[in-house]
Amino acid sequence: MKVSRRNLLQITGVSIVIAGLLPRMAFAARNALNSMRTGVQPGGKTRIVIETASRPSYTLVYGENTLTIKLSNTPANDSVSAKLASGTLVKSINQTQIGDALNIVATLKRPIAEIPKNQIMILEPNGDNDYRLVIDFTAATSSAKATTTAGDDSASKSEKKHVIVLDAGHGGKDPGCIGKGGTKEKTVVLSIAQKLRSALRDAGFTVYMTRSDDTYLKLGDRAAIAEKKKADLFLSIHANANPSRSVKGFSIYTLSEKASDEEAQKLADAENAADKIDVDGFENFSKDIRIALSALQQHAVAEMSEEYANGCARAFNRGGIEQQPGPAVRHAPLAVLRSTVPGALIECGHLSNAAEEKLLKTSSHQDKLVSAIVKSVKNYDFEV
Ligand SMILES: [Zn+2]
Repeated sequence: MKVSRRNLLQITGVSIVIAGLLPRMAFAARNALNSMRTGVQPGGKTRIVIETASRPSYTLVYGENTLTIKLSNTPANDSVSAKLASGTLVKSINQTQIGDALNIVATLKRPIAEIPKNQIMILEPNGDNDYRLVIDFTAATSSAKATTTAGDDSASKSEKKHVIVLDAGHGGKDPGCIGKGGTKEKTVVLSIAQKLRSALRDAGFTVYMTRSDDTYLKLGDRAAIAEKKKADLFLSIHANANPSRSVKGFSIYTLSEKASDEEAQKLADAENAADKIDVDGFENFSKDIRIALSALQQHAVAEMSEEYANGCARAFNRGGIEQQPGPAVRHAPLAVLRSTVPGALIECGHLSNAAEEKLLKTSSHQDKLVSAIVKSVKNYDFEV
């Protein structure tokens, strides 16, 4: 972890504490354990929720068939026993006091891999709950079994294949934008996404596509595929249109509640219109996920998305791909990006511009775009 990243996370108020990497914080008052529970999340994930009176400072330790959550400066609380849901990986949860720290030991039915940082979050108190440390995980595949403890995780990281979900925009009954020459966005972006899939696979990534043919898919379903595949990165590939036919160039979007400018808002309206989804009424995920989306975790996802998008814009610039006037990276409430997976929506260029419409259809230009995107994925720091 780079120091700059750590500072960035702290500045933005994100508390993702990774054992051994962040300094232990000293607390004057002791924390208190209020409840422990498990549940099942979309994609069959097991969720452990540890509720505490103040913000928890924690370390995760991976054992053969255990996950230990060390809460610093917290006494055991014998009146709290874990409420265990059925269908999770957790057999039992017990407390052990070790010095000042409380070890919460979850005995598991199967080994687990190291839990990605975007599956660990601390939620702020709300009406019904105190601080909650929320940890989501699945069973390890045999090759990805965690044999390391937190803070000493270099071995497992180097073996992990990162998962990219590619989303070719639009499809089926939804053509996306259409150039003057009749080029449909859905066709161009599928072609780019298919080339990108093979290039990323060649580069050693595991790649899934939301659609691999001319099929219509709802925006929420696309985001749900990224969740289900436990993607490390989600890339939605699009081409743009502008009322002014002289406008050309690429731009890259990340998710935000508010659009960064009027143009970004118009783009979000146009892209979200595909299935008339109301961004605020996004119901595809469980309540917990939606709470998480509005909470701290989303800040971390936003930071990671922003970092990817900036790197992608640099790769496009270096690749000699024309940039749309204005900022290369913009922000908009795009429904397709609404998930717990970091990602970006890439507007590869403008089909409304005659020259760029021609360019976007050519295999050589598509290869240029693909090569820039592959570079940006390779350069992205997955282990932030
Ligand atoms: Zn589009």
